[in-house]
Amino acid sequence: MKLANYVGGTWVEGSGDGAPLFDPVLGDELARASTDGIDLSAALDYARRTGGPALRAMSFAERAQMLGKISDTLAANRDRYFELAQANSGNTQVDASIDVDGGSGTLKYYAYIGGKLGDANYLTDGALERLGKDEAFQAMHLLVPLDGVAVHINAFNFPSWGLWEKAAVALLSGVPVLAKPATATALLSHAMVKDVVEAGIVPDGALSLICGGARELMDHVASGDAVAFTGSAETAHLLRGHANVIRNSVRFNVEADSLNVSVLGPDAAAGSPEFDLFVREVAREMTVKAGQKCTAIRRALVPAAVIDAVTDALADRLGKTVVGNPRDETVRMGPIVDKVQQKNVLDGIKQLQAEAKTITGDGSFEPVGADPEASAFVPPTLLRCDTPDEADVLHKVEVFGPVSTLMPYDGAEQAYGLAARGGGSLAASVFTGDDGFAAEAALRLAPTHGRVLVVDEAVGKSSTGHGIVMPQCVHGGPGRAGGGEELGGLRGLRFYHQRVAVQGNSGRLHALAEGAAELTV
Ligand code: NAP
Repeated sequence: MKLANYVGGTWVEGSGDGAPLFDPVLGDELARASTDGIDLSAALDYARRTGGPALRAMSFAERAQMLGKISDTLAANRDRYFELAQANSGNTQVDASIDVDGGSGTLKYYAYIGGKLGDANYLTDGALERLGKDEAFQAMHLLVPLDGVAVHINAFNFPSWGLWEKAAVALLSGVPVLAKPATATALLSHAMVKDVVEAGIVPDGALSLICGGARELMDHVASGDAVAFTGSAETAHLLRGHANVIRNSVRFNVEADSLNVSVLGPDAAAGSPEFDLFVREVAREMTVKAGQKCTAIRRALVPAAVIDAVTDALADRLGKTVVGNPRDETVRMGPIVDKVQQKNVLDGIKQLQAEAKTITGDGSFEPVGADPEASAFVPPTLLRCDTPDEADVLHKVEVFGPVSTLMPYDGAEQAYGLAARGGGSLAASVFTGDDGFAAEAALRLAPTHGRVLVVDEAVGKSSTGHGIVMPQCVHGGPGRAGGGEELGGLRGLRFYHQRVAVQGNSGRLHALAEGAAELTV
């Protein structure tokens, strides 16, 4: 089966053999994907000329309703999507839920907050400001939807969530979407878009999909378009630095890789509630999605006094994690997405091992219910480095798999310094029962992180976790994490709007403002 592309309002197969998509457990080929022969320039143009005007003519309430219907369509097909996520990504039920339910949940959330914006189709940002001596002459800022297309390039690890978290914000803003999932796991994205298109929920041209290589896509983006990229820092550099992108000042948001930290507070003695919550969270972050989450904990910083206790507790927990074929109900961790990524992870582990000793993951390993040769498994691999100040690679190389490194610290200053050596990350977490340390750590970690989760016993149960991205909160991080910002409630809409200062007669400005919704509702 070759996955068709949805461009220009029709499904079109790419030419040639296409790239294969595999089942990472069984090794079977599931489908092929090709964009060869597809006119990418015409595809973007169709979205701009057909989808854009249709969406901009709709109010926020109507667009919100559309998001709600997309979410309902996805929810109705949930079981089939879980099967596809299991087949093409080796997902367990928990993994598939994070991806599939995460996608439909984010759409639902934006349907809800978008509905509050009512009949308007543009936004005010702030109040009127008097500019001169005369009351009559004033200014205000409006946010109007971009008149181009939102190009969404996604990573392989979230073929559902990545697609819909981006589309929700762009479509609510009134900007058509051309989505390009990562080829390796495009099966699920393709099935979902097909269902949404067949349900007749989105206007013609509002949602396009290409399955396969992006080829020269960046040659055809134009001013007024907005590109949102998720993937490796290397690809991000290449695309953000593309001459056409620079020449036309095309908006470009990057969500790239990250050396996220979790810090166990100096107060947390072995056996304390925060100690136990920390151990559970590090193990969970290593094993959910087999560690293939951009927000996963890569470096776990613990007070030197308890490093041995943490090492033992984590090794014990990871030792009990059943790794193998997710079709087996006892299995809690699945494979890496394919053989290429498996090799990348194994090579990465070797690099880290030059600076750290291996606590778990060495030695013989047999995945449950799977052939080790045909499949792409890597065991949960816990490393430990007792001299983290001297380490280099551990703070630089993101190994995108079930891998994390324990590091002891001596005093809070050292912990903050080590955290910052990640060069800018998506998420940090702090586990502490000490209110003073909690406040200080949140502020000290803030300049180098997009999100800081602070956990104590009181929120241990209700916390959504270190690695889970919530649409209410900013997703993005400074520095090597890409410097981007997605989601974060209504403020996430700014990326798809032009902010314009309008100056003139205050009476006229008031009339314009009355037709708008406020960004802050
Ligand atoms: P990748 O190799 O950089 O690919 C990302 C996307 O870019 C894919 O859709 C890929 O398409 C596409 N691409 C590659 N070359 C391109 C080109 N020349 N023009 C246009 N598109 C191009 O990354 P990945 O291996 O899929 O993802 C893993 C990385 O993503 C990890 O480093 C992880 O940290 C990061 N990540 C970040 C976040 C976040 O939210 N910050 C989330 C998930 C993952 P093909 O698949 O067709 O090559």
